[in-house]
Amino acid sequence: MNTLSAQAGLDETRKFMKERLQGIVPDIEIEAKVEIAHEINRLKHEMNAVILGHNYMEPALYHSIPDYTGDSLQLSSIAAKTTADIIVFCGVWFMGETAKILNPQKTVLVPSEKAGCSLAEGISADDIRALKAKFPGAVVVTYVNTYATSKAESDYCCTSGNADKVLSKLVEDGHKRIIFLPDAYLAENTATQLGLPFLDSEADQKAFDAVPADQPLVIGWHAKCEVHELFTTEDVANIRKQYQDAVILAHPECPPEVIQLVDKSGSTKAMVDYVRDKDAPWYALLTECSMGDNLAAEFPHRRLVRACTLRCKHMNYITLEDTLAALKQCQYQVHLDETIRQQALLPIQRMLAIQ
Ligand code: SF4
Repeated sequence: MNTLSAQAGLDETRKFMKERLQGIVPDIEIEAKVEIAHEINRLKHEMNAVILGHNYMEPALYHSIPDYTGDSLQLSSIAAKTTADIIVFCGVWFMGETAKILNPQKTVLVPSEKAGCSLAEGISADDIRALKAKFPGAVVVTYVNTYATSKAESDYCCTSGNADKVLSKLVEDGHKRIIFLPDAYLAENTATQLGLPFLDSEADQKAFDAVPADQPLVIGWHAKCEVHELFTTEDVANIRKQYQDAVILAHPECPPEVIQLVDKSGSTKAMVDYVRDKDAPWYALLTECSMGDNLAAEFPHRRLVRACTLRCKHMNYITLEDTLAALKQCQYQVHLDETIRQQALLPIQRMLAIQ
């Protein structure tokens, strides 16, 4: 949680941001942003709004205006319980939708209409209906990084933090064909972690026939995170060469050959927990760039390798300027069809019951 009070004055805001972001954001940039951050905090208090900041927000925003920070699941749980009138989700559009699914009475704002996601856009409700027709009787697990229309076609949701638990539960419940959507790498990495066979949904029929019908099989789709798919084994080798004692943590949306080489794979929350709780000489994070900067600012006693250059363009659309405009003009509001919302709620509730 942000420790800057919503009622902090301009000087207090400037002091907090400079102290927190020392060595991460140049003073000149903080000077350019501090008045906007202060105005946002003043307005959110006046309007009874809560601001949720995803771990991938840029550091000046992340460390000045959110009331809560975290991954999409943590923030959605907060969104579900908030008593604020307005939820401003500083994250991408599917996150705003999830907040609206969980707390439909609230006004939910996402500061940019352009903040999409290659995973959410990589599958549609029609695609899922076609998969269900191709694999009759299969259970469908959908990553939360999808739009409400896709969730509405699914049996369960999962996050990168609980994909293993959700898959294990489905196997335990006796499901033999498990369609895991839409991230090809998250599906394969999770199946590998649990020792389950994995096939792409377009794989040759012979490959499907080779897995006995009474054995569980994870069936994937071809969408990928346009940020995490770019990490390579060479990136891992480069870090190891320069920082031999670094612990390398990678997000499970990275390619399987990368995951096999790192020390730990985990969600953004797992990375935060690791950097906070486990001692290591160096930490290297194979995930979206801002996350490393945000952790370096939050835990100045930890040494983070700042070698990453991969920024998510969708997360980058969310700026302090647009967040101020969102509050002033009450834009851009998330609206969902009520039938879709209710259908999308069910797989989320089933996921939450597995926690
Ligand atoms: S980092 Fe990847 S999964 Fe996250 S919003 Fe960007 S494209 Fe989507």
